Order: sequence, then structure tokens, then C-alpha cells
Amino acid sequence: MEPLFDLLKALCDLPGPTGAEERVQAFVAAAWREAGHAVTEAPVGNLLARVGGQGRRLVVVAHADEISVVVKSVTADGHCLLMSASGMSGAGSRPPNPMILGQPMTVMGRHGPVPAVLAARTGHLRSTLPDSGAAILWNDLFLDLGVGTASAVADLGVHPGCPACFDVATRRLGTRIVGKAMDDRAALTIATELGRRAAGRRLGYELWLASTVQEENGLIGATALGAGQPGFDLAIALDVGLCGDVPGVGLHEMPVRLGGGPALVHRDSSVRYHRALTYALCAAGEKRGIAVQHAAFQGYGSDSAAMFKSNVPSALVAYPTRYTHTAIETVDEGDLEACVDLLLAFCEEATF
Ligand SMILES: [Zn+2]
Repeated sequence: MEPLFDLLKALCDLPGPTGAEERVQAFVAAAWREAGHAVTEAPVGNLLARVGGQGRRLVVVAHADEISVVVKSVTADGHCLLMSASGMSGAGSRPPNPMILGQPMTVMGRHGPVPAVLAARTGHLRSTLPDSGAAILWNDLFLDLGVGTASAVADLGVHPGCPACFDVATRRLGTRIVGKAMDDRAALTIATELGRRAAGRRLGYELWLASTVQEENGLIGATALGAGQPGFDLAIALDVGLCGDVPGVGLHEMPVRLGGGPALVHRDSSVRYHRALTYALCAAGEKRGIAVQHAAFQGYGSDSAAMFKSNVPSALVAYPTRYTHTAIETVDEGDLEACVDLLLAFCEEATF
């Protein structure tokens, strides 16, 4: 038994493209109920669980959705053209990362998941075509469902508007763990493990867990959570952290290492996180000898920005993750364990 890895793999392998998170939420609700928490589901799909403890209300927030694409149209011969699920994807624009190509996919059709591959024309023919050498654009990408007509695609319950995500099994790679949805299932793993370990302990806060929907298209679920929340006094979001320890980036550009411990994010593109709360997390780590890293992210946002806008002091704890928003998101198990330890230390030491 490898409790953390097994939980992470079970969560990460589930399909949960933005707006179709129901399989993830069902798994999380069951895990949280099994741990003894009272779980409620909001009308828009957010999950909320009360773990226990006494004091001001602290919510630890992770999101259920993963990076995904959306079927834009279906060609006569059954290929699904694509648009972004989270940003602009005009015909002439580039997908944010060419590494999304060539992956097995799951389309969430009307009647359930449908297997597919994310493809583009082969390199053998690219050189013979007039725009050879051009960058891959959104219009070059399509899903192949293995059927040859638009009506066969329709028979599978797939139509414009259906979301799709990677279908790649989570596995160990050396001392690391690789999978398609570390963003943000590793966070749900940390939150679930925190709830299990915190239950029955003396906490300085009343601890709650939240699993939100539709983070990747603009913090939609967290905005609803903030609007309908039962009086939270502070919030901590968990999400992927960017890493600088890879070729082409460097620690001068992003001073976060995989395996270096949780990153306390002071600001990103959307918000300056709460200073006193962030330093209180730092102090809790220092009391227990848990190493943390400090970071500021660009081109990045988290659910804590939405909580902040709901007047809740909010921080972001990020576990270092390589190759974010690809099918090979890579984390270090020790970082995930350290995130659980840090949050538990914060709950017990009540440093804020
Ligand atoms: Zn995320």
C-alpha cells in the first residue's frame, strides 16, 4: 500500500475537463465522507466539507477541473476541430504549449466518456504542403475518434461544445510522479490527506475543505464558493507551482525547485496574496522544520484570488510542478507530503 500515491493516481486518472467534473467530485465526496467529514454539494457543483476543530473558519481550496479543450465543430469525415477551454483560440492563434499534441484523449460526450487522440497532419506531409514549417495553430489540431463520418461522431454523443481532456495513466518516473492532471488533483490529494490526518486532532481553526469546479476558465467555482460561503475567515488555495530547474528556464527566472518543498506564492497575475497569512504559513513551517520556497508567478492565477475578492484573507500554497498544462505534469512525492505537513502544522500552531 502506498496511500498517497494510490490516492493521487486514482484522482489524477479520472476525466474532469472544465465543466464536466462530476466524476472527480463523486470520488472526492466519497473519500471525504469516508474520512468522517460532513459533505455538501453546491448547486453549481462545488463540494464543501467540514473537518472539525475550533476557532476561526479556515477553508483549504483545490479545484476539480483539469486542463482541457472543447470541440468547436465536426467535419464531414468525423474529425473534431478544437478551441481552447480557457482562453482565446482563434483560427490563427497558437495553443499555449505544443506538447499537447499526440496524446490519447477522453471526450466527455452526452452519454459519457469517448476515447480519442489529439492529432495534427503528419510531418511526412507537412513538408509537401504550402505552409510547411509554420507553427502549429489551433486550426491545425483535431480529435480523431476512430470513426469516419459526422453521423458516427454524433452517434457517440459527441458534438460542438463537448469538452475533452488527456487520457494518460499516472505513473512513477524515478523519484517523481507523472500524470495528466497534477493540476489540480495533487491538490485534492493533499487536501484529502490533510482532512484524514486532521480529523480528531486539536486544531486552532475550524477546518473546512472545498473542491471547486471551473477554475481553469476564470475561477468560476471559487467565485460561487465565495458568494455562498458560511462565513470563512481565511482561505488557502492549493495549486501547481512553476519550476525553474529545467533547461531553458533557470532559477533566476523561476526560483522554485522540484523537491525543494512547498512554494509560498506571494503574488501572481491576479492578486497579491495576504501578506500576514502567507508569513504565518512560513512561521508554521519554521516551527516544524518544514522547508518552504518563496515565489511570484506570472501568467498564473488561483482560486484564492476569487476568495480574496469575497473579503476572505487568502494565501496560495503551491507544490512544485514541471511541464504544467501538459499530459506529463511532474511532481515530487516529498513535496506533496510536505504540503500536508505544512497545512497540518498551520492548523495546529494557529500562527495567523
Ligand atoms: Zn490549477
